[in-house]
Amino acid sequence: MKKFVIITMLLLLLLSLILLASPIDVELLKEAQFYEKHDDGSVRCTLCPNRCWLPEGVTGLCRVRQNINGTLYSLVYNKPVSVNIDPIEKKPLYHFYPGSKILSLATVGCNLRCNFCQNWTISQSNPGEVRSYDATSEEIVELAKEYKCKSIAFTYTEPTVFYEYMVDIAKCAHENGIKTVWVTCGYINEEPLRQLIPYLDAANMDLKGYSEDFYSTYTTGTLEPVLRTIEICKEEGLYFEITNLVIPDANDDPEMISDMCVWLKETIGTEYPLHFSRFSPQFKLTNRPPTPVKTLEMAYDIAKEVGLKYVYIGNVVTASEDTFCPNCGKKIIDRYGYSIQEMHITDGKCDYCGHEIFGEFE
Ligand code: SF4
Ligand code: SF4
Repeated sequence: MKKFVIITMLLLLLLSLILLASPIDVELLKEAQFYEKHDDGSVRCTLCPNRCWLPEGVTGLCRVRQNINGTLYSLVYNKPVSVNIDPIEKKPLYHFYPGSKILSLATVGCNLRCNFCQNWTISQSNPGEVRSYDATSEEIVELAKEYKCKSIAFTYTEPTVFYEYMVDIAKCAHENGIKTVWVTCGYINEEPLRQLIPYLDAANMDLKGYSEDFYSTYTTGTLEPVLRTIEICKEEGLYFEITNLVIPDANDDPEMISDMCVWLKETIGTEYPLHFSRFSPQFKLTNRPPTPVKTLEMAYDIAKEVGLKYVYIGNVVTASEDTFCPNCGKKIIDRYGYSIQEMHITDGKCDYCGHEIFGEFE
């Protein structure tokens, strides 16, 4: 019996070695946008601030872009690993067609390695390690139509790393009257960002913490490019909301939260919604407790004091998930978790006083 088990294990090992050694069929891949070719056969990917230099055969930090014979390819084009129908509140987007359904998808891969990642089983996996589906842009859009989704979200992992697939789905979605949403860490270079924005209708951007030290310790990225992404999205007129995951003893210092809110106010104004989201121990950061509700309430109070008009607490049921009119103070959206209980907005205006509410509404 023991001999049989050993032989089976050896056969399985041999099979996986054969599969790993099989040449990749480049016909099935999509050439990447945004890279430079070098005479020695290496390439430099210019999609995100990591700017990976990739000799022949090497894959970037995001795990999904590989130099094959001097050409950079996306390894995940048409290969989603997760496709779901979500309430749009889950993205979170609170001022973009509240109560609507959104088809959400991801491939594997991410250009950051946050040690608190809530989706690490897919964001930190290589292509082939997680079962993927074959789905063209047209098939994704058909699915969205079939399930009567108002929008499609590129989400869960970091959609920037499946840029070509995202853009092709977004183009097809627009041709079919479906909106598109980018849920992102904002770690992208300026040129690809500016070329992407025309195909998007909304975004939710993470501002994970307001210090370079936090980004280098917890995410492997840097803060500056994220701030630049927020500035460009504002400049280009893209509608977006910001999410800040509050992690105990990492980015919950009141001064850091205050500095972040002041920067947001001075850079994009007071209308863009800000979500403080509750951390739960995940991935490599399991030695911290979930964020205490009082810490989230402290962050909420700071943001309101700074003057931000729409501030929310997420991942926990509190009164701070409702929307109040900044003019008359009445509750205009009553939420419970991801569901809308009541809404008092008509044609984008408060039903009680007529004040225009920032965002897009039916
Ligand atoms: S997208 Fe990927 S390959 Fe390109 S620079 Fe970023 S991490 Fe590197
Ligand atoms: S950017 Fe998002 S998906 Fe990527 S590792 Fe960080 S938390 Fe996870």
